[in-house]
Amino acid sequence: MNTADIVALEDRHTSGLYSRQPMALVRGSGAWVWDADGRAYLDCAGGHGVANVGHAHPAVVQAIAEQAGRLATCPNGFYNDQRALLQAELVRIAPPGLERVFLCNSGTEAVEAALKFARLATGRTGFVAAMRGFHGRTWGALSATWNKAYRQPFEPLLPGFAFVPYNRAEPMEDAVTDETAAVILEVVQGEGGVIPGDGDYLRGVQALCRRRGALFIVDEVQTGFGRTGRTFASEHHGLEPDLLCVAKAMAGGLPMGAVLTGGRVGPLPARAHGTTFGGNPLACAAALATIRCLEAEDLPRRAAALGERLLAGLRAIQDAAPKVRQVRGLGLMAGVELKTPAGPALAALAARGILALNAGTNVLRFLPPLVIQESEIDLLLERLSEVLCHGAV
Ligand SMILES: *Cc1c(COP(=O)(O)O)cnc(C)c1O
Repeated sequence: MNTADIVALEDRHTSGLYSRQPMALVRGSGAWVWDADGRAYLDCAGGHGVANVGHAHPAVVQAIAEQAGRLATCPNGFYNDQRALLQAELVRIAPPGLERVFLCNSGTEAVEAALKFARLATGRTGFVAAMRGFHGRTWGALSATWNKAYRQPFEPLLPGFAFVPYNRAEPMEDAVTDETAAVILEVVQGEGGVIPGDGDYLRGVQALCRRRGALFIVDEVQTGFGRTGRTFASEHHGLEPDLLCVAKAMAGGLPMGAVLTGGRVGPLPARAHGTTFGGNPLACAAALATIRCLEAEDLPRRAAALGERLLAGLRAIQDAAPKVRQVRGLGLMAGVELKTPAGPALAALAARGILALNAGTNVLRFLPPLVIQESEIDLLLERLSEVLCHGAV
């Protein structure tokens, strides 16, 4: 099938929920993807931050193939070797204090579970979340998500959610009460515009939660597994969340999520929550291989170094392009806020062989695979400079 055939067929039966670029991606390798007509693109969208170890990493491919031939499914009523190993690995690489793991299939499921666990563990019902925060689309996670466009069609949502400005301590002080089960925050707000959290603020929220008997949920669905230059972004600030939500890059492209919990959550009551697919051996084997790649190739450190190169280059573009308002980021998670909508710039980049994302209406977001080369970062910067500095849009 060529691109035109695929677009026509997919459009005929799509739910209609997604607005798509007219590109049909059929193959990937490292930081590159190819469309059905054989055209190559440097993938700085990284599958929305999923492809941290790169596309079709041979070690991940092999682990998936071997496990698929051995055992793909194992109900949670039985033990499994891959699940046992993965849970131990996650606890080993996670911020200190996290001891237990609930495995699921997506980011929104991880958030959904964390919210339920917080109510179970505290007996309280309230939650505090941040303006511009994004936590997913299922009902609970959506209730913690700020963007009106996502929320409004589905109201009424869950009661008990308060929203406060991100990176401001005082409103948070007022919002967390003795009815608050948990505060939920991202370390770097992704979907909300690539807004890095301030370390003092985040540590202050954690301390406030401890004082008020509330739990601290950190959503690292987008920032986890090396993206920001540390295995988890929490490490930049010495955070010790009570619940840590992860997903996206976790299983090298297979759907998987998890909630890690600490001592203030403890073991949860039997049968209080569950999932059929969560922790299936196939996804677990893929995640184990992904974690091995992250460590063997030192990808968090690579993300830190290449992220500096990327941010420095983006700042140079900002100096030359009046339509750029601000450059923000941490590691290989970068945002360029424009004074104009992001759409035309994204289309102009795609026409030059570079895929990127938006974050909100006017922020360009770059989440390249962490295996990207220096020369490929430079290629991105060159193309972006053409688009933003030389009047292509
Ligand atoms: C993507 C994302 C989610 C939702 O993950 P899905 O797998 O799309 O459900 C939740 N939180 C954050 C911070 C995200 O970036």
